Formats: sequence, C-alpha cells, structure tokens
Amino acid sequence: MNTTTYKGIGASPGIAIANAIVIHDEVYIPEPTQSQDKEASWARVQQAFTAAEQDIQAIYEHTKAKLGDKKAEIFEGHLMILEDPDLLEGIQTSIEEDGYEAEYALHATAQQFISILSEMDDEILRERATDVKDITNRIMSHLRGVKHIDLSSLQEECIIVARDLTPSDTALLDVNYVKGFVTAMGSRTSHSAIMARSLEIPAIVGAGDAVMSIETGVTLIIHTDQQEVIVQPDSSVLEEMTAQQQRFIQHKEQLAKLVDQPTISKDGSQVELAANIGKLEDIDRAISLGAEGIGLFRSEFLYMGKTSLPTEEEQYSSYSYALQKMGTKPVVIRTLDIGGDKELPYLNLPKEDNPFLGLRALRFCLVNQDLFRTQLRALLRASVHGNLKIMFPMIAVLEELLQAKQILAEEKQKLIDEGIAVNDHIEVGMMVEIPSVAVSADLFAPHIDFFSIGTNDLIQYTMAADRMNETLAYLYQPLHPSILRLVKMVIDAANKEGKWVGMCGEMAGDSLAAPLLLGLGLHEFSMSASSILSTKEQLMNLNKAEWKTHAEHAMTLAQSEQIVQYVQQQLTSNE
Ligand code: PEP
Ligand code: MG
Repeated sequence: MNTTTYKGIGASPGIAIANAIVIHDEVYIPEPTQSQDKEASWARVQQAFTAAEQDIQAIYEHTKAKLGDKKAEIFEGHLMILEDPDLLEGIQTSIEEDGYEAEYALHATAQQFISILSEMDDEILRERATDVKDITNRIMSHLRGVKHIDLSSLQEECIIVARDLTPSDTALLDVNYVKGFVTAMGSRTSHSAIMARSLEIPAIVGAGDAVMSIETGVTLIIHTDQQEVIVQPDSSVLEEMTAQQQRFIQHKEQLAKLVDQPTISKDGSQVELAANIGKLEDIDRAISLGAEGIGLFRSEFLYMGKTSLPTEEEQYSSYSYALQKMGTKPVVIRTLDIGGDKELPYLNLPKEDNPFLGLRALRFCLVNQDLFRTQLRALLRASVHGNLKIMFPMIAVLEELLQAKQILAEEKQKLIDEGIAVNDHIEVGMMVEIPSVAVSADLFAPHIDFFSIGTNDLIQYTMAADRMNETLAYLYQPLHPSILRLVKMVIDAANKEGKWVGMCGEMAGDSLAAPLLLGLGLHEFSMSASSILSTKEQLMNLNKAEWKTHAEHAMTLAQSEQIVQYVQQQLTSNE
C-alpha cells in the first residue's frame, strides 16, 4: 500500500475518514469526426438518452423526498428537455444527413439550442440554456461511458475530491453521506469552504491539482489541524486518526454545555455571538450551537441552485420563517450579494475579467433595481415577524449607501400606501468590506445603525489578493497590522457615533483573532455556527481590559507572524 500525503488549507475543522469519490468535471468537447456506422451512432444516442432519463428520474424522486418539491423542479425541467423532439431530431439529422459521430452530433445540436436560448428576450427561456448544458453533459457522459456523479444522490459514505466545488454544489451535499471534501482550488474564505463550516464537515481546500490523481474508492483521511489529506493510510495511522477523531467529538460534547450561557469576559464585558447562515435549514443547527442571533444571512443562497429568480412571495416566506424561528433575537439579512464566486447561471450575465472587482452585490442591485426592489419588499413585509436588520454588502462610496437607503425608503412608503404592515424600527446597516469604507468609517457612521466588518473581502481587497487563489493564500493574513488597524478604525468610528459594530467575516471565529477583537471592543462576533461554542469558551476565559492592551501592542508589530506569536504567548500565559 502506498501512502501519499497532500497539503492544503484546513477550511472546516475535524477529522474525516472515508473512501474517496473523485469528480472530474472538465467539459468534453468532441472532435467533428464522421460516423462509420450511422445506425449504430443513432442507437448509441438513444441509449444515452434513456440512461440519462433514468438518472434524472431517480434524482428527481430523491430530491423531492429530501429537499421538497421546489428543489426538485430543476430536474422536472431536465426531463422536459430530454423529451423535446426537436433536440433528438436535430441530433438525428446531424448523424444521418451530415454524417457526424454521435458525440459531435450531440455537442453541435446542443450548442445550437444553447445559443438560441441564450439570446431569447424571455428570461425563463434564457434560463433553459443552463439546463440544456447540464443535461448535455449528462448524456455525453453516458455516450462516452464516463461516470457522472450527482452530489445530491450519493448512497454511500465518502469524501469528495474535486478541482473546485461551486457554492451550489456544496449546498446540495448530503451530510449523511459526505463526510468531508478536498478541493484542488480555493481558500479558507471561498464560499465552498464557508459552506463546509456551516455543514460541519471537515474540508481541505487549495490542495493543488495533484489531488486530482487520487482514485475513486481509495481510503482517505482529512485532518484539518494538520492541513493534510492522507491517501491510503497504513493501519497504524488509521488507528491513531480514529482515536483523534474520537477525542475531537468528545471535546465537542463538552462544549455543548455552554449553549445557553451568555458570553461574558472574565472582567464582565458581554459580547454577542451570532451565526452566519446561507440556508433556512442552517437555523436549527445555529440555535442548537448557541447562536444568540443571525449576524449574517447570505440571502443570495435563496437565489442559487434554482432555475429562476425567487419571487417576492418565496422570499417573503423564507425571511418570515427565519425571523419567526429566531423570535426576538436579531436576524441580520444581507441583501443579494451575487458576483465573485457566486454565480446565477440563469441570469446569463456577461463574463467579467475581474469578477471580484466587478458588478457584484449592491453594485449589481443598484443597476438591476427591479430585482432589488422585489427583495426589499419581501424583507419589509417580513419585518413584522421578528427582529429584522437589513444590511447592504460591498459598499465603496457613500452615494451607494444613500441610494440603497433611498430605494428602501421608497419601497417602504409604497407598502404603507398599500396598507401593508411594516415594522417601524428596522435597523439598517452596511458591511465594511472595502478599505475605502474602513478608512473613512467615521463618514459613514452617521448614516447607519450598525456596521458589520466583512473581513473575507476586506482582506482580499486590502492585500489585492484574490480570495479564491490558493497560491496567494499566504496573503490571507487576518492578523496583519493593516487589517487590525482597519478593524480598529471601524470599531472606533462606530463607538464614537454610538452605533454597534459586528464582524461577519471568518476572522470573527478565528481563535487567534477573537481575543484581539474583544480587546478592540467589537460588539458582535458572527461566524459559522460550528465555531460559536469554542469561541464562547475562549472569550469567557479572557479579560477584555488586558486584551485591549495586547491589541494595542500587536498593532505596533510589523508582521503577522510576530503578532501570531505574541497572541499565542499571551494565550499560553493565560492558561
Ligand atoms: C465577507 O466578505 O467577509 C463576508 C462575510 O461576505 P462573503 O464572505 O459572503 O463575501
Ligand atoms: Mg463579502
């Protein structure tokens, strides 16, 4: 047995042991070869269609039973495409009249469909282009005899290995079977990593392309503390890792005792620990893991994994559900933050050279106001059901905030004129993700009720380092003096104006950063639910006044590494 080890970034804590399922997702583009036997080529196409139909039927049933009718609709759409006589006729003509081999006939015909659909005025028809792509890939896999893996319908325990997982792929993972995942690409703050934390499954990301040579079926161990993937471990390693896995689970059980306790530092300062969520199903887990509120509801996940935009009604019911579930506890819902690594294929938006610097989040909403107004109406209507706070993402300049607030005020007035009830005390805040805002936070503070610092983006924009690029992962330095100073500027500006300030970037749940953030005076720490209890345990053992001094000293050190060491020393002497 040949044991191999790959290094990556531990993106979600824990140890997983299971067999690998490797997903090779390169898009196959066949050569325009001529068919040697047209009848056989046509027969192969028909068989591939039948096999694809069986797959989709099974996925449809499975998704419907597990995730409900709405999520299953996508696959109903796929079945309709398979049954479209024009598609089959187009392929038949390409084989029989143009003489092409089955693979090319399928590819060429599907491409025609995709380009016609992509140019349609009707949005619903445009969205079908994505479905045609999906279904064509599936039929192509059958034609080529290559296994097509559906993440939503796995039937055995496994660890997924893939070049990358999109956030919607990750949303489909069934944690009953998927014990962890490894990706070649990505960083700690890529959205698939964030999803892994919310699903509480161990994950290693950014492990490099070499992991794609792992074979399906071999035993894998993911050890996130060691930032390692071990392939085909020998029996002694397997035994040791199983024991460590047990200890990890026991510590988790210990932490569970803190669930209902408030987070009060040794010297009596209370902070709020909240959860970041992407899906409604995350709420129960967040509550059970001690969340005192939802500090970031990434509303864009309601728009993903679908074939069309969610309606006002759909959004209203999702937001109302979240607010009702949380009762009087705060729920910060962030308006749509699409762009960067979060795509909505059904909108068929033009590709951008620098998507993270492009038309993302609020910028996109201010250009596509219909969609923005629909979301705001849904939020305003839902506001009567709980303690809603609305938050705008990716603001760079004050004009954007003022325009967003103006649109919100207009929609609120319209609802009131229509006789629809709206909560009169909704706090409106903004994320601080762009350095332009952090350094002039005092100029924004009078216009908001709260700030929430989004360090995932703030770090990438401060360091000019794409958060998805694993080669630049060394620049993701939450403890760099520049980041600490920016964070301090925001906290000080908020305090001066009497506003509260939270952090919903991953840094809030980082065990080396959290003590400094306590010292700097952060009020709310919002993180993946799985980090809440360990952060609570840590903060309850610290003295805020001492960490104020430590934070001040840390900011005078020139390099992250020095700050890391300094914090570690202080934590050790605190034990
Ligand atoms: C952030 O940028 O820190 C943040 C919380 O937003 P997201 O990770 O969704 O971009
Ligand atoms: Mg962000």
